[in-house]
Amino acid sequence: MPEGDTVWNTARVLEQALAGEVLTGSDFRVPRLATADLSGWTVAESASRGKHLLLRLNRDGRPPHTLHSHLRMDGAWRAYAPRERWTGRPAHLIRVVLRTARSVAVGYHLHEVALIPTVDEEHLVGHLGPDLLGTDWDPAEAVRRIAAKPSATIAEALLDQRNLAGVGNLYKAETLFLRGLWPWTPVAGVADLTGTVELAQRLVASNRGRWTQTTTGSLRKGETSYVYGRRAQPCRRCATAIRKAEQDERVTYWCPRCQPEPG
Ligand SMILES: [Zn+2]
Repeated sequence: MPEGDTVWNTARVLEQALAGEVLTGSDFRVPRLATADLSGWTVAESASRGKHLLLRLNRDGRPPHTLHSHLRMDGAWRAYAPRERWTGRPAHLIRVVLRTARSVAVGYHLHEVALIPTVDEEHLVGHLGPDLLGTDWDPAEAVRRIAAKPSATIAEALLDQRNLAGVGNLYKAETLFLRGLWPWTPVAGVADLTGTVELAQRLVASNRGRWTQTTTGSLRKGETSYVYGRRAQPCRRCATAIRKAEQDERVTYWCPRCQPEPG
């Protein structure tokens, strides 16, 4: 599932495929942009902010524009050579195609696709908390935002992109395990919020640049997480069966012994 590192990697794929190139064609398969045509625009850069992708475009005589997209649970961008077969996903999931002389970028099952003046980017991403993978990552600001809602659960607080941008369900569950925190602990009951957000940042950052996400240090299948996706399997530390439950319409995994309910 796309988390901050996946989105960061995706931005890099688009940067390598498109940056500095003039678009020779575009095809939008989303109703709102069905008539949009980006031919003649130059791709200035590809950036990520939390889980949002921002493809910045220039053209002489026009204000710079940004093509925004969000991967949510299932979206993806792939880059292909001009005559290569598009093997990423079924064709009916294609939402955007961008062509240059040397490559084709295909966006599958993208969400929130929008073409906006670059000066208006803040309307789409200005609400986000500090980006875990941004050059401006600011743990103190993330802690300040989390602490402002002391009754929220720590799991909810880590997933709230307005607090910090880039943590998804996997890194949430793994961070809480490594900090020994029961997922329903209220923010007010977490002794070290700074240590918690800094650990989440390190986990996401350590997976930048590769597509296999690991929090254990192992890249072997079945060994990449402590609790995420491991319901009923033995905890790697204490052998207690890992639990899974719904929490705020997401699932969460935890070890009842390593992450005991406070009190
Ligand atoms: Zn355990």
